[in-house]
Amino acid sequence: MPKTMKKNNEPQLSKKDVGLRSRALKDVSRALGTKDLLGDDFSNLEAVKMSLIDFFKRYGFTEMETPILEKAEMFKNNFRRDASKELYEITSDKGEKLALRSELTQGIIRAFFEHDLINSMPQPTRLFSVGPVFRQEKLQSSRYRQFTQINAEILGENKAVAEALLIYTMFSLCKEWGLDIEVQINSLGKSECQKEYKTRLNAYYKERGNRAKLCNECKKLLAKDPLALLDCTEKECMGLAEGAPQIVDFLDEESRDHFSKLVEYLDELEVKYNFNPRLVRGLNYYNDAVFEFWPIADNGQVQYKYALGGGGRYDKLIEKIGGQDVPAVGMALGMERILYKLKDKGLILFPQPENLIFLAQLSEQAKLKSMQIFEDLRREGFNIRNSFAANSLKKQLEEAKQLQARVCLILGKKELSDDTILLRDMDSGVQEIVPQKKLIKDLQKKLN
Ligand code: AMP
Repeated sequence: MPKTMKKNNEPQLSKKDVGLRSRALKDVSRALGTKDLLGDDFSNLEAVKMSLIDFFKRYGFTEMETPILEKAEMFKNNFRRDASKELYEITSDKGEKLALRSELTQGIIRAFFEHDLINSMPQPTRLFSVGPVFRQEKLQSSRYRQFTQINAEILGENKAVAEALLIYTMFSLCKEWGLDIEVQINSLGKSECQKEYKTRLNAYYKERGNRAKLCNECKKLLAKDPLALLDCTEKECMGLAEGAPQIVDFLDEESRDHFSKLVEYLDELEVKYNFNPRLVRGLNYYNDAVFEFWPIADNGQVQYKYALGGGGRYDKLIEKIGGQDVPAVGMALGMERILYKLKDKGLILFPQPENLIFLAQLSEQAKLKSMQIFEDLRREGFNIRNSFAANSLKKQLEEAKQLQARVCLILGKKELSDDTILLRDMDSGVQEIVPQKKLIKDLQKKLN
């Protein structure tokens, strides 16, 4: 027998083989700036997604999905900083310039017009979408090159109640998840206000040697978009931004009223917010209200610029993509940031499906029968889970508890032989023997 073969003919890997294998693995390891989501992280992702989806659906939002690949043109010119450094661009075999989407909003707006949703859906139209987005970020912690966003957009509503609803959704869900946040709010006014403000800001940065203190990127950006300088995280630039003129002083009456109304709503809803005159967002298409959700650390400090999500009003973008004047607000939430915040705090959320039934089984024969029962109950519309591969009742009951099942059905040898099943109420721990024939009726009675 060759040295490298075991008795059962399984090949044994030599050290060299292992070396080769690990080298091979290294070659196929994940790309820089990407993440695998496993275990508790995945569970949290599902739970966060489910609560958001549930919340949006209750408020009449419709879910939609748009392609990951879109025409590159759509995304260009919207970044405050250099788009060519952020977008992943691809040229198709037909020479079409495509890009991996860098956010969800623009695809949603494109689809809104392309499918004439403006005429076929109730107005204002409320849409939401979840999926991966891609940005060529500098590699640093908490900044990925592929990450997941969940977006909610309200199209066709010009009142501040739209912004208030989006902010309130995230604020109250964070509370429910155990995350303390402070909402940063600002108003960027309308194009005309921004124009006047930009001129004033430009002059400020050129005053008394201010320009010389700016980082190289901000120096370049000054002519293109001075608002972007307020967002820079370089120490000197942040110092200068502190003393910069504020856009609130440039708002016209309509924008001022809109912003005051939003603040009134947030007060009424008891949302914790902070007026942040330097909040401008990374994309340049916003007007009037903008907002971001910043976490509060255990020491009470607000985590500057570590946004879990953000959004604002973007009437201008709609006009650019669809050529029509439709007022709109939206927000994008960063799922990975939310997940890692939950992890920091040791919080694990579990999705809480209603009236969950867990089916446990205790022998090879019971496994087969329980598959049948599982299918019967699934077809009847029960929300049912199982763990067919498990053998220990203790483990299965633990899983049922973790999933917050209301009922656990247990099928062992005895039940199998007399065509019954044990029905355990997970709250009280009380168990009853139920004939399999009566199971559906008994479950309907119990769960209703
Ligand atoms: P933005 O579209 O830039 O407003 O981003 C919305 C949210 O997505 C942010 O508040 C973050 O939570 C998240 N996010 C943005 N960029 C990244 C990134 N590079 N890596 C991980 N999450 C991100």
